[in-house]
Amino acid sequence: MDENLPPTPTHSPEPVAFKAETRQLLDILIHSLYSEREIFLRELISNASDALTRIDFETLTNRNILNPEAELAIRIIGDTENKTLTISDTGIGMTTDEMIENLGTIAHSGARDFIRTVKEQGKSASDLIGQFGVGFYSAFMVAEWIRVTSRSFRPEAQATSWFCTGADTYTLEPADKAERGTTITIKLKEDAAEFAQEYRLKEIIRRHSNFIPFPIYLGEKAEQANQRTAIWRQVPRQVELKEYEDFYRQLTLDLEPPLAHAHMVVDAPTQFYAILYIPATPERTMFSLRKEDGLKLYARKVLIQEYHKDLLPEYLSFIQGVVDSEDLPLNVSRETIQSNRVMAQLKKLITSKVLDTLLKLAKDEPEKYQQFWEKSSRHIKQGVAIEVNEPDNLYPLLRFRTTTQPEKWSSLDDYVARMKPGQNQIYYIIGDDDRSVLYSPHLDILRSHGFEALLMTDPLDAFMLVRLQKYQEHQLVNAANADLPRLEPGETGDQAPSLSESESSSIIERFKALLGDRVTDVRTTDRLSDSPARLVDPEGSPNQEMQRVYRFLQRDFEAPKKVLELNPHHPIMLRLNSLAGDDPRSTWVMEQVYEDALLIEGLHPDPAGMISRIQKLMEAALG
Ligand code: ADP
Repeated sequence: MDENLPPTPTHSPEPVAFKAETRQLLDILIHSLYSEREIFLRELISNASDALTRIDFETLTNRNILNPEAELAIRIIGDTENKTLTISDTGIGMTTDEMIENLGTIAHSGARDFIRTVKEQGKSASDLIGQFGVGFYSAFMVAEWIRVTSRSFRPEAQATSWFCTGADTYTLEPADKAERGTTITIKLKEDAAEFAQEYRLKEIIRRHSNFIPFPIYLGEKAEQANQRTAIWRQVPRQVELKEYEDFYRQLTLDLEPPLAHAHMVVDAPTQFYAILYIPATPERTMFSLRKEDGLKLYARKVLIQEYHKDLLPEYLSFIQGVVDSEDLPLNVSRETIQSNRVMAQLKKLITSKVLDTLLKLAKDEPEKYQQFWEKSSRHIKQGVAIEVNEPDNLYPLLRFRTTTQPEKWSSLDDYVARMKPGQNQIYYIIGDDDRSVLYSPHLDILRSHGFEALLMTDPLDAFMLVRLQKYQEHQLVNAANADLPRLEPGETGDQAPSLSESESSSIIERFKALLGDRVTDVRTTDRLSDSPARLVDPEGSPNQEMQRVYRFLQRDFEAPKKVLELNPHHPIMLRLNSLAGDDPRSTWVMEQVYEDALLIEGLHPDPAGMISRIQKLMEAALG
């Protein structure tokens, strides 16, 4: 790797070769036609803004810097006659070595991802470029050549000039620059002359860089082109939805607008401003501008941390936004801020605001909430499973498919509102997928009472159920364990015939002989109506949710052996009873009854293995 590093320059403008991947990026950028090439300006402004943020931060602790009095600002000047564009900042600047390091190689991963995506997916660069932070090099979309002259904030450092035409090499030479900061001069290509025009520059700044927290002065007259006033410091009712969405877009580069936002202006117990967003999709993609989880944290307008992770609990880490407090001491290191008392208060207030915002979304805009739930449910479930403080706050946010409304998402409140007179418990059924779980024999008993059950088919549901045991005054109960009496035949109207006691025990013996130690026991039950049989856990084994938790945590987890329960009213059992013991159909049917039960429980190791038996049964049925 290191042999590719350019040699340290002597102070003559000897050409230095680029690293291979930098070369590739330049080729892609130079030889594509970009409808969106204006974004090069956003990239350069954002670099300048970062450099200003860094000097701002440095000033807090370091007195030994060049031009401490210089205004923190960005200046942009277009020269239509000479077709040049100049972008200067009074930021942290770069030493010679830093220029080699930063401009001679692709330092950041966004550019690397960009090259990979263009190559692998064959996507056109122009489709992707607006979504990637491709950085400094994007200026070669419009540049014939670029000169970067920079002087570091370190008083003893010399100014250096970097020059490149986009060919294979660049040169470095000492430069004259009295002031701290960086100046980038771009000689515009013939077809990019528009970028020397002020009205065009102003339009681009407004569109992409309006919320940069430093003034951007445009033209000889140095008019400020960006709005700049931190949007979070404005009065919420004076900010329009579009401005919140613009700010979100500039913060994240997310193409979808956020589902909801909350703007907090709080004075007590702690003073702070915050804008929080619920993104439409919780995952970052390679297109996201945000490279990590976390909120942007400012103390008295100074950005002290780009990705602050302790203002929200882990399960809400997908929330985007900005927090700015007057109560945070400025001269703290980024490390000690963690243990600050103010931080704990902020976390509490911000967390509950996010939950309120979600609740409000669910109430006022149910379709949007549904969209949130479909993409982000696992975060809320994770919160229920592991959040130590009051997981109850999260319960109203949960949504479920149910046995009676399998197409819809129901809240626990919806379920409770639909409970039958005399029903006090909330029932649920655990399974591997929504469709097959509806065939579960465990539901027979609920159906006979007309009770609804929540479908718990997401692997996370089992983890969640370890905590979620009660909602309001209603216990949550697994349908497989529901301790409900079977309704008397008179009550349901069916006068089902049944096996006699001795017939039952003979059938039980036949099953036991056939299944051997594949089951721990065989018995009859009065909990089944439509199903011939079911598998249940023997007394004292871990409950079904814990079994599923184990199954997800241990690859080689073996489900404990089950008890096979038979329905003495079911026609299959009645017919089986009248078949001679040595009739081969008797064995096929009993095996099939057992394996169907395994299948429904999601425990069948080899469903396709049943086919030959099913064929024999079909032949027998057809006579
Ligand atoms: P990125 O900004 O994503 O890291 P770039 O290719 O845009 O990637 O820039 C590479 C590096 O060059 C930056 O990380 C920064 O260290 C340095 N740099 C670029 N522009 C400036 C600037 N105006 N002032 C100081 N350093 C800069």
